[in-house]
Amino acid sequence: MSETSIYQRLRAHLAYLRLAAAAEALPTELEHAKVNNLGHSAFLERLLDVEVIATEARRQAGLERFACLPSPWRIDDFDFDAQPSVDKAMVHELGTLRFLEDATNVLLIGPPGVGKTMLAVGLGRASIEAGYRTYYTTAADLAARCHRAALEGRWATTMRFFAGPRLLIIDEVGYLPLASEAAAALFQVVTQRYLKSSIVMTTNLGVGSWGKIFDDPMVAAAMLDRLLHRSVVFNIDGESYRMRSHRARSENVRKGVRPKPEK
Ligand code: ADP
Ligand code: MG
Repeated sequence: MSETSIYQRLRAHLAYLRLAAAAEALPTELEHAKVNNLGHSAFLERLLDVEVIATEARRQAGLERFACLPSPWRIDDFDFDAQPSVDKAMVHELGTLRFLEDATNVLLIGPPGVGKTMLAVGLGRASIEAGYRTYYTTAADLAARCHRAALEGRWATTMRFFAGPRLLIIDEVGYLPLASEAAAALFQVVTQRYLKSSIVMTTNLGVGSWGKIFDDPMVAAAMLDRLLHRSVVFNIDGESYRMRSHRARSENVRKGVRPKPEK
């Protein structure tokens, strides 16, 4: 077979095996191998490396799309000096994702604006980057989705969906009172993940007030029991980060300091 037809067949093989990135890199890599006098294995290693990198990037992009994180925050973006009630060492420990191994839950409790969503999203981002299936939802969205599922006869499928991700983030529990059907949905999600896979939950209500979110205090107690059994709890107090920067700006205006341009 001529050099050209071998080349054509090789391209065809790569296309048939759906190794698109390797197929595209083939001419460059062949040239590189010739110029640098690479052996067969060195050439093949380089070519497959291109494909592995592309596959990994596709997988990451898939995880990223699936997760529906509402913002690009990372743990390192969190300003720990501004929020001394947050245990920085503990957040960094969680950032190693060891907590996913024994299905530890993370509960972030605090008033609006103190960075609960930011930390939850930061953990979600770390989890995606480590290759774990991660999913973000608010409690209200979870409730609405389960409600639709119940109407359309897809309850079991929806429950399986929420059991699936290695990390499930449920944001904003307690902002809105949950009707009994919604509470039952949340309860079932928590129960089926219990001791199997982690939940990061954020709430504005201290655990003592959870009875207020749910019509049925027994459901609240049973759910808390499962959530807290193996958990890390952050009680974040202090003032809202937004209010804080707003106040700093007004102080500066009062003192006649020119504001720094926002990043
Ligand atoms: P919460 O979910 O507690 O209501 P968010 O996480 O939505 O609060 O934070 C509100 C805003 O303030 C966001 O824009 C967030 O990026 C910012 N923010 C809050 N806390 C911090 C912090 N410690 N460092 C940097 N930004 C923060
Ligand atoms: Mg929030």
